[in-house]
Formats: sequence, C-alpha cells, structure tokens
Amino acid sequence: MSSMINFGIDLGTTNSLIAKFDKGNVEVFKNPKGFKESLPSVVGFRNNRILVGDAAKNYVERDAKSVASRFKRKMGTTETLKIKSTGDSKTPVELSSFVLKELKSFVHSGESVESAVLTIPASFDTVQSNATKQAGIEAGFKQVVLLQEPIAASLAYANKANSEDLRNSQWIVYDLGGGTFDVALVKIIEGELTVVDHEGDNYLGGSDFDELIVEKLIVPALERQGVFEDLIGELKSETGKYNQIWFRLLEAAEQAKVELSTATSTDIDLGMTDLEDDEGDLIDSLITITRSEFEEVIREEVDGTAEMMKKIITRNSLQPSDLKFTLMVGGSTLIPFVRSRIEELMGIPVNVSIDPTNAITIGAAYFAGTKQKEIMPSDSNIFENTRNIKVKAVFERNSQDIEEMFNAKINGDIDGLFYRIYSEDGSFDSGLKSLANRISEDLPLREGAFNHFNFQVVDGQNNPIDVGFNSIQIAQGRYSVAGQVLPEDISLVKDDLNNKDTLLDCVFERNCVLPTRGKRTVEVAKTIAQGSDDEVKIMVVEGPAARHSTTNKQIGVLSISGEQISKDLLKGTEIDLIIEMSESRDLTVSAYLNGTDQEFSQVFQGTKRLVEPKILTTEVFQLEDRIQVEMEDAASHNKPEVVYQLQKLLKEANSLSAETTDLPMDDVTDDRFKLEDKKRQLAQQIYQLTSSKRLDAAKLEYMEAKEEVTRLIRENGNDHELHQLQEIVAREQIFIHSASPEKIEAPTAELHTLGFQIRWRMPEFLLGMFEYLKERRISMNDQSYAKQLFESGHRAIENEAWDDLRDINGMLWELMPETERPAEDIQMFTGIV
Ligand code: ADP
Ligand code: MG
Repeated sequence: MSSMINFGIDLGTTNSLIAKFDKGNVEVFKNPKGFKESLPSVVGFRNNRILVGDAAKNYVERDAKSVASRFKRKMGTTETLKIKSTGDSKTPVELSSFVLKELKSFVHSGESVESAVLTIPASFDTVQSNATKQAGIEAGFKQVVLLQEPIAASLAYANKANSEDLRNSQWIVYDLGGGTFDVALVKIIEGELTVVDHEGDNYLGGSDFDELIVEKLIVPALERQGVFEDLIGELKSETGKYNQIWFRLLEAAEQAKVELSTATSTDIDLGMTDLEDDEGDLIDSLITITRSEFEEVIREEVDGTAEMMKKIITRNSLQPSDLKFTLMVGGSTLIPFVRSRIEELMGIPVNVSIDPTNAITIGAAYFAGTKQKEIMPSDSNIFENTRNIKVKAVFERNSQDIEEMFNAKINGDIDGLFYRIYSEDGSFDSGLKSLANRISEDLPLREGAFNHFNFQVVDGQNNPIDVGFNSIQIAQGRYSVAGQVLPEDISLVKDDLNNKDTLLDCVFERNCVLPTRGKRTVEVAKTIAQGSDDEVKIMVVEGPAARHSTTNKQIGVLSISGEQISKDLLKGTEIDLIIEMSESRDLTVSAYLNGTDQEFSQVFQGTKRLVEPKILTTEVFQLEDRIQVEMEDAASHNKPEVVYQLQKLLKEANSLSAETTDLPMDDVTDDRFKLEDKKRQLAQQIYQLTSSKRLDAAKLEYMEAKEEVTRLIRENGNDHELHQLQEIVAREQIFIHSASPEKIEAPTAELHTLGFQIRWRMPEFLLGMFEYLKERRISMNDQSYAKQLFESGHRAIENEAWDDLRDINGMLWELMPETERPAEDIQMFTGIV
C-alpha cells in the first residue's frame, strides 16, 4: 500500500470529480452510472433514498424542494437547506459529504479512500475552508488536505506532456466555474509553484449567467405575453406564487447557455402547457434567444472579472507582457465570448490547452501524489517517543539533479538507537546505521518521478520509534507546490486604551505559507477575580490588518473565565500566546497565564458563518450614520475632496440599505451573503477614507509626546530612560510614514508610559495627582478606607515623604471604579493633553 494520499477531489459548486495519482500518471475516475467523469454536486431526497448527481438533478422536475444544489456557495454559513420530502434540514457540510461519499464509489480499484486532497477556491476564508474539511471527515476520510484550485489547475498544466517550459515565468489562472470565480497570479520559483496573489468572488459563476438569462431574457419575454405584477419576486421568494418553477427556469436557462457555446441561436422550451399569468390567462412557454443577446446580458459580469485581473496586475507592478498566458479553467470558460473578451481586454494570450472541466481534479491528484498519509498505523508495535527525539530535516523537495543530499539534525537521547532510509520500490536502502546528532545521506533519484523514501528510527531490539518524521519525498524534474498560502491577514484584536477602540496586531500576513506559528504577549486589561464570571477574551480575526477590526471576520475566540483560574488574575499580568495555523487551516490559540501558571489551549475549526438579514440591515444603517458624521467632520475641516468621496459612499450605502431592507426573511438565494460581502467592503472604504484623519492626529500626538518626554528626561530622567527614548526615536523612520495609525499610536503609548514613569517620581506630580483624587473621593469604592488613605496622604505631604505619597496615590487610584477612569484622566496623568 502506498503511503501517499494519491486521491484528489474537485468538490465543485456545480460538478465534482475524483482522480488518482499512480506512478506518475493521473486517472480521472468515471461514474459507473453513465460513465461521465463529473458528478453534478446535487443531492435529492426521495422518500428514504438519497439521490446524488444526475439522479438528483433529474428529480428536480418532480420535487424541486427536495433537491439541494449549489450548496458550496453556502459553505461556512449557518444556513441549512430545508428538505420537503423528509421534513428536516441539511447543512451545506452534510450535503457536500453525500457528494464525497458518492465520489468514493467511482473508485473501481476496490481500495478504500482513507485520505484525500480536496480543492477550495483561493478566496475561501478560514471558516469556509474548515467547513470543506469537515465535509471530508463526515464522508469518512481520516485525513483531508486542502489545496487551492488555481494551484491545482497550474499543476495540471505544468505536469502535462509538452507544456511550455515554465521555469522563471508567471501567469494568471482564470477559473470561472458554476458558482465561484478565482483569479490567481502563479509563479514557479526553483521548481516550486507559488500563488503570489489572488482575487476572487465567491458569488460569481455560470449559475449567475443562468439567473441573468432568467431575469433579463426569459422573465421579460413572459411579461410581454401576460400580466404579472411582480414575477421576479414571486419566483425568488420561498413563499412566492411561482417559486416552484424558479429552479425549472434555471435548468432551461443553463441548457440554452451551453447550446449557445456552439450555436448562434437557441430555443428555450419551458415545456409547460399550464403556465398562467396573474389573471389566469395561459402563456406560451417557447422562447428564442440569440448568442449576441446572451453576450450582452453577461458582458458586465465578464468585464468585472477582467477588472479583478487588472487589480492583481497593478498591485504587483506588472505589465500584461510579463505574463506568459491566462490559463482558462472552469466550465464557463467554454463560452467563446469569455475567452475572446478576456483576451481582448487584457492583451494576454489565453491558454485553453487543458480540459477546463477536469484540470482541477488532475492537479489535486498530482499534489496528493506528493503528500504523505498521516494516519498512524493502529497497531501497537510502534514505540512511543519517550526519549524525546526530535528530527530537523533539511533537503530539496524538488530537484533537477539525479541525486540529492539528505541532512538532519537529531536532538534527544539518541544513545543506542539506529536509523534506516529506504525507498518504497526497494531500489535504495541505507541499511541500519547508528543515530548521531547529525546524519546525512546521498539519495539517488528516479528521473521525472516522485521519489519517496521511508525514514525509520529503531532501538537495539529493532522496535520502531515514532519520532514524528518518517518520510522523505523528492520530486525529480517536476513542479510541486511550495505550500498553502493564507488568503488574508490573520490578526490579534488588542485593546486600544488611548482611543477606547481596538487595534489589530497582524500575526500572519496574507500570502504567507502554511503551516505557520506566531508568538505574542498581551496584558490583562482588567483584574479578573477567581471564581467570578468575568472573562479575558483573546480574539483572532481574518481580513486586512491595516484596517479596522470591524471590517474583519472573527475566526477564533479563546475565553478564560474567573471560574477557570486558580487565583485572581491581576490587571497588567502578562499572557503568553502561541497562535498556530495548520496547512489545513486549523487555528490553535494557546495561552500561558504568567500570574497563575496555567495553560489554556483551544483549536478552532470554525465551520459556520452567521448572516442574519436583520443584523445586516442594522449594520448598514450604522454605516450610513457613520458616513453622515464623517461628512460633517470633513466639511468642518474644509476637506471638500473627502466630502465628495463620502457622498459617493453614502449613495452606495443607501442603495445597499434598500437592498438589505428588501431581503425576505426567508430568502432562498445567496443574496444575504453577497450583501454582507458588500457591507464589509463598504466599511473598509469608509475606514480607508477617514483613517487619514486619525493618521494626522496620531503623528501630531507622537511629536508632542516626544517633545514632552525629552523635556522630562532632561529635567528628571535617568540613563536607562534616556536609552529607552533613544530606542523609540531610532525606529521613527519606520513607523512615522506608515499608512496605519496603529503603527504610530503604539510608540506614542510607549512614550506616555515612559513619561508617566518619570513623573511618578516628581513631588509636584504626586501632589497634583493627590488633589485630583481628592476631588473624586465621593465615587470611590470603600469610603472609610479612602478617608484613612487621605489622612495618611496629608501626613506624608507634611513630612515630604514622597515614596509614601506615591503608594497612597496608587491605592486611591485602585479605589476608583473603572468607569470613573476616563481616557482624559489617563492623559492628565501622563501630562499630555
Ligand atoms: P464548478 O467549478 O462550479 O463546479 P464547473 O467548472 O464544472 O463548475 O463549471 C460548471 C459551469 O460551467 C456551469 O455553470 C455550466 O453551466 C457551465 N458550462 C459547462 N459547459 C459549458 C459550455 N459548453 N458552455 C457554457 N457553459 C458551460
Ligand atoms: Mg471549479
């Protein structure tokens, strides 16, 4: 049995396929029923039977409400699809798992598929990716590795016979399928394929074209023949009068669209003899559409895809001539207009040399051929690693040579242990050798092949020991994948006390290669009493880190409550965090509490996102308000260009608001997710436009703080403090030109702390603070204790006992309820107003 995963699956919105890598070749399996390679991603429920694929697709005619399709678009949402025949609901994850189970039945070799590479659009976020993985697990896979579709497509092309030499080149993958659009900039660097950048839209694809045909061509044609008050509304809403024919119209539209890829005109016969208008008059259901009518209807969408390509090209400072070609994949690139229009608009040759419908599966299988199975043998003859052996291996995973050097550093108790490296096919065997702290071995490679060697550590009795590293894979003369990349920044949300806001601390940058890991130290913002239900929350979000946290999506929250801690967690205590993301995007957040010596860890495999029309509507209202406020602010600061931009955004917000208000609560389309995406984009634009305001303020505040602290140090500082100041000023060139205010606010906060530290030693400051506290004594928590402290304070002042006064001030400060400590007061104490 091979120790590689070998199976690759394209779990598509519209069609799914399965293929297997075997000794350098890939076979795409055919459906034993009908002998087609692709399985429609459609699931139907007929009495007690579950229908998958064509059977389900055909069943739509009989009972559309018991058939689910296009659920990949809802991956990662909490939405469930109601099944009429069974009366229950199915999640997108469950439905996908049915498709995956059906695909397993295509594998005629009789072997069971235990692990597989599943592909996802490059634009899938963490929640959507995890939902996909979950579907694989529910389908019975023990291991699921995710691969981004543009990489899979590129692998299919790169590994194809007579493909152009791609070394040191770059190209665009244009994937227009049924429900998602992905465009990716891909490069090969030293034999490794890497996605350099990507853009995408999870709500754009061939099924939108089908909807457009219905809305823009079929519905108007029907309306011309009869009297309908709101045909579109009645079609789309679940309770609508014509909702039962909505899916039938989509089917007919798709068929016409496919025909128009080869014909210039086609007839749509809805095949209904009983279609009536609102007044009960019969309507003729035969409609003719032409290719040019169809092209007109989709032109805007296609042009939109070109815009996304241009965005990537500009963002990466490239010219169209820098790109080798546009690799066309996805069924919708079979539309002649899509090919010609993209070539015309972009000025880059389109490459249509791979089958756009199965390229992704083939690429996934190539990748699976290089991926080690991680399922541990269940037998117990592997000994536990009680000797703490750690292996750090260094070798080229891709080689153009016929021999590669394998090196490894071994840590732990290696005494009396041996190692052996041998190839699967028996062509190489190092024999047993004594394990040393450093080992190295020349490995001979088979040409044009994926070479695999086992690495084994055994004790004196030849018992294998699990050292967490057991295989060496080297692709010779082939291209492979550098690694999964992160589609968005991943950040930690921190409190921003100065602005009573939050700020983002980017832990992993967009496009970094997974798996990855980062460390951070944060401070507890307020004391958490042991046993109380107060909590420390550590929040991790996904989205552009230079923006505000509200424009990001939450992907993990680790909460530690008073009930879980062994003693009080004092304000200011440090928490050491380790944040990890696996290749398959499991997020692990581990926290070590210095104060209580406790450790907490949680894995997040978020698989759902919630979008409620009601909440969405409220959020859009809030955005409208925010724009109004910002507009007034910009006007009063005499910034007409900002006002003008905001006016444009307000218009967008108004129309978005109208759309969200119109959303039926039982909306059956993807509209709410599209609108939620739009809302986030709008929030980002508003933030971008107004952040310059905060940026100016941040710069000014930094300069003032620097001046103030320099003066304080000159008058009262010590060498250590002077050194701290110099250290901050030395970094100034890096942060002062930053586009994000947070980057400037952080050193400003350091200056404030430094200033506070110095003032804290100065009698005038301590006196002033004492007076300030006295004015607020009524609000203090423990009145009689406060009284005592004030008396001691007066004595300390008489005796000029400044150290005592400092302690007393500190204790009084603690007696002030948190709500009584507004930010201006902090500023007063730091002396910077
Ligand atoms: P997905 O990746 O979403 O599963 P596919 O790559 O299988 O999608 O593409 C499916 C889409 O391609 C469907 O919308 C289908 O209507 C469309 N399609 C397939 N063949 C053709 C064709 N010959 N002409 C136009 N569109 C086509
Ligand atoms: Mg696809």
